[in-house]
Amino acid sequence: MKDLHYEELILRGLPISKGIGIGLPLFMVGGDDEPPEVPILKKEVEAEIERYRRALDQSRRDVENLRRLSLQEGPSEIVAILGTHLEIMQDPLITEEIEEKIRHSQHNTEVVFRHVIEEYKLRFNTEDTYFQERVSDIVDVSRRILSYLRPLSRISMKEMPHNSVILTHELVPSETIEATTLLVSGFVTVAGGITSHVAIIARAKGIPYVANIDMDLIRRLRPRSIIVDGSEGVVIINPTRQTLKKYHQLKKTHIEEYKLLSDTTHLRAETIDGYEIRLFANLENPKELESALQSGASGIGLFRSEYLFLTHRKIPSEEEQFDAYRKMARALKSKPLVIRIFDIGGDKKVDLHHDHPDAKYFQSIGTELNPALGCRAIRFLLRFPEILHTQLRAILRASAYGDVQILIPMLADLSELRIVKALAKKIQAELHEQGIKTAKEIPIGCMIEVPSSAIMSDAMAEEADFLSIGTNDLIQYVLAADRANPSTAALYHAIHPSVLRLIRMVVSAAGRCRKPVIVCGECAADPLMMPLLMGLGLREFSVAARHIPFVKHTVRKWRILEAYRLAESALEYTSAAELKAFLDSELRADS
Ligand code: PEP
Ligand code: MG
Repeated sequence: MKDLHYEELILRGLPISKGIGIGLPLFMVGGDDEPPEVPILKKEVEAEIERYRRALDQSRRDVENLRRLSLQEGPSEIVAILGTHLEIMQDPLITEEIEEKIRHSQHNTEVVFRHVIEEYKLRFNTEDTYFQERVSDIVDVSRRILSYLRPLSRISMKEMPHNSVILTHELVPSETIEATTLLVSGFVTVAGGITSHVAIIARAKGIPYVANIDMDLIRRLRPRSIIVDGSEGVVIINPTRQTLKKYHQLKKTHIEEYKLLSDTTHLRAETIDGYEIRLFANLENPKELESALQSGASGIGLFRSEYLFLTHRKIPSEEEQFDAYRKMARALKSKPLVIRIFDIGGDKKVDLHHDHPDAKYFQSIGTELNPALGCRAIRFLLRFPEILHTQLRAILRASAYGDVQILIPMLADLSELRIVKALAKKIQAELHEQGIKTAKEIPIGCMIEVPSSAIMSDAMAEEADFLSIGTNDLIQYVLAADRANPSTAALYHAIHPSVLRLIRMVVSAAGRCRKPVIVCGECAADPLMMPLLMGLGLREFSVAARHIPFVKHTVRKWRILEAYRLAESALEYTSAAELKAFLDSELRADS
């Protein structure tokens, strides 16, 4: 093969977050990636072996505990499997051989461990079911031991060197939330979809991001520098001086355009014919509340409270939550703070160590076959009512300090709303009995993000105080196209006739019941979708704070009557491609 080192190479992927990032490549390992290969000094060998022994010990204790539990309640097959796992952990292959190899090779445990397991798998690569089972037991045991070693293998986003372009197989929301533009210039991944939670965070932070890129190829090229063009979905490896110059200029123009638009906070979000559109901010990190307000938000339309859990890697206590919610409510003065109760599960989960006090909540959901359709959001909270109870108490207590509202994610049935309402009422009464203040009325809203709740939105609107259309999920569930998977990206369209019809249905259901309805999904920030949404009757939107100036810019270019006409014509289209072509031609003609 031709040696491509240091030649400029252009790769095309999926554009996820706009902007130009120029920086130094930083490969991050984790998940199924290779562990980092770290040479160690002779004097560090014994400490490294000690680290391995600890991981092995912890794993052994886990399995012993599990086996003890299974002896009391579990099926005998499980007891037998765990017995085999304990035997494996005493096998010289797992004990002496690994220690010997760490000594001999002077490399970190993860690498040595992986090599030994790979060798073992090769040696027993036969059709024989006995050996196959033995190999799968070994893999199982090795995963457990590696999970105790892994914390050392992935650097935190807070500790990145300046100007890093992060290259990795996949990012997860809990780590992406810690990235700052100060340190991270761009993201490049293999996996990742346009409205995945990671994508939402990258866009909210203004970090350029391209997915669906061949990471092995980049690794082989050993890049010295890298450009991420998140607007075009292009990654340039080892750019020439000329390319660098061009992209530095593009980056500058991009930043200037953004500054120019952000300078519109003093302007009202209203159409040419004077209809007011209320723009709220979506928020993941309470620390960013101030900047959200500076962007001109009328309040927080969606606080993704699960990030309190994802960033701290533990379910926050009532006091911790109360403190966070009260601070936000106070800072917002009388502006609304819509707290979405924990949307945990799906792609928003963290790998907790087996001995973590909260690990019990995640054992079953961690192995779900289809997490997006599994125990996520309100389903998770109803399975573990103690978590819901604590969160509702904290929110109700904070309601005494501002306009606090509760939003329920991923409702699929009216009964889920009824349970939360009844519980909130009961907790409110308990708090009053204990002499603790709350607001008199705390509005409770339904997120419409599952087809069943959109179809039943008249019943939802009747019993809820407001509806909030979560288009990111609604689209994935209506079109059966995973929002986080690049291979279904071409099937995932906000601009789809079925999505428009469902939104229209929800808006009219809310209208009939005289209940407010808001869109809090990413499509509200899409200049093609926004006029359509206004034309469908929507007047309230919640988007990432960074997007507010852009949305305002679009709003101010439209008349409501024109938006109505546009929506009316759009609703006649029956295929996504035709609808998109229609909007492209209409909106291009308009601009
Ligand atoms: C949505 O699904 O549209 C939404 C706003 O919620 P999230 O993106 O957090 O799932
Ligand atoms: Mg959602």
